[in-house]
Amino acid sequence: MTSLEQERWSRVKGRLKAEVGEDIFSSWFARMDLECVEKDTARLSVPTRFLKSWIQSHYSDRVLRCWQAEERCVQRIELTVRTAAIKAPPARPRMEEQPEPAREPKADRLNGAELRLSPAPVSAAHEASGGSPLDPRLTFETFVIGRSNTLTHAAAKQVAATRRGDLVMFNPLYIHAGVGLGKTHLLQAITWAGNAGGDRKLQYLTAEKFMYGFVTALKNQNAIAFKEALRGIDVLVIDDLQFLTGKNMQAEFCHTLNALIDAGRQVVIAADRPPSELETLDDRVRSRLAGGLVVEMGPLGEELRFEILKNRIAAARAHHPGFEVPDTVVSYIAKSVTHNGRDLEGALNRLLALSKLTGQPITMEVAEREVRDLIRPQEPKRVKIEDIQRVVARQYNVSRSDLLSSRRTANVVRPRQVAMYLAKTLTLRSLPEIGRRFGGRDHTTVLHAVRKIENLIGNDASLADEIDALKRHLQQE
Ligand code: ADP
Ligand code: MG
Repeated sequence: MTSLEQERWSRVKGRLKAEVGEDIFSSWFARMDLECVEKDTARLSVPTRFLKSWIQSHYSDRVLRCWQAEERCVQRIELTVRTAAIKAPPARPRMEEQPEPAREPKADRLNGAELRLSPAPVSAAHEASGGSPLDPRLTFETFVIGRSNTLTHAAAKQVAATRRGDLVMFNPLYIHAGVGLGKTHLLQAITWAGNAGGDRKLQYLTAEKFMYGFVTALKNQNAIAFKEALRGIDVLVIDDLQFLTGKNMQAEFCHTLNALIDAGRQVVIAADRPPSELETLDDRVRSRLAGGLVVEMGPLGEELRFEILKNRIAAARAHHPGFEVPDTVVSYIAKSVTHNGRDLEGALNRLLALSKLTGQPITMEVAEREVRDLIRPQEPKRVKIEDIQRVVARQYNVSRSDLLSSRRTANVVRPRQVAMYLAKTLTLRSLPEIGRRFGGRDHTTVLHAVRKIENLIGNDASLADEIDALKRHLQQE
């Protein structure tokens, strides 16, 4: 691409951003690239099929108009998927022949259906058929959309709105995020909406419940029935996959996953880390998990926290009309309780209890006193071992595969030790896990590296500074 084209492309993006706003732009267009402009066609690419299809059905006119404002001769926009990272299962038609993703109105009708149905029978039926309990508050209705979760929310709605016989768009849908950022909320919302609004059977299971179900079935010698029942589900929703442990369990889970996906059933998964970091799962399962749509939800921004609080207060007022929280107090909580959705809930519950039990009005003074201990410093960013390896390799001018290799020349040994040291100090991974991620090394090797660097830092101020800079870089990246 010429620099002229590059420049023009930046201007087109600028226009688009001005038109749709920062939030929408970063959710949908941040990863859209220009491939080239040929005659009257601007060829653009995005990393996933889902983005492609969403942009095509919702924004293609806008994108074209922004182009034409910069370059009159462009008459057409062509959108392609950049890599083959998301592979369609073999026997299924290609994406181009699949229906467009559901537009919002369809999804909204779904919410209507969900509201009309009383939640209790849905949850009871769900539990009776072996699912984990569903919380009636965790629906799409109560899920607040913000910058950090737009894409994930849209994907979740899409999954919930699909009907039996529709083609499955991305499978599995894999959602990862830190604690309290809304994974369970979204998964349960999918289950509620799907079970209430459609002809499919959705089952929500925590990984623990999955394991428990299987172990019980084995004990009662009806493992086959258990498997059959699982495979009869249209949409299997598994929460907290990081808790799936044990070789047998993994094998069982792997079979279930493969059987469902191959049969064109939808699988939705949530975990606290990306598939590549599910250390206990074997490579085949991880690659299967990564082969659908993997989406991450970031920390709740202040605006989002504010909206969540407002919604919660409104819901609480339905049962306790005297509960009034001034906006200044809501902003204060949104600003100071930065940790996660659970702490927000905790803060409000305290104020609610106080208001109910004492009838005291909720003032700023009361709020400050009540939520003091929930105010924690911002949770440090989750650092991934892959990022550490990438950043360290770049810093020392070696390749990532050098770091993982068995080469013992000085120019790779030191960077490798630094990377292992950073992995130990910046992540919660155990020594054996780290060893495995560094080309299958023994945990004693990792320990040696960590000790070595600790010693060096004590004696070498410039190395200490260098490592400090690397740490800061990784935590901010
Ligand atoms: P996770 O499963 O990721 O640990 P949860 O789904 O349990 O997190 O969310 C923690 C709390 O925060 C729940 O009460 C949930 O309803 C609330 N929460 C998180 N994100 C949102 C959101 N976007 N809108 C409304 N509530 C949210
Ligand atoms: Mg959860």
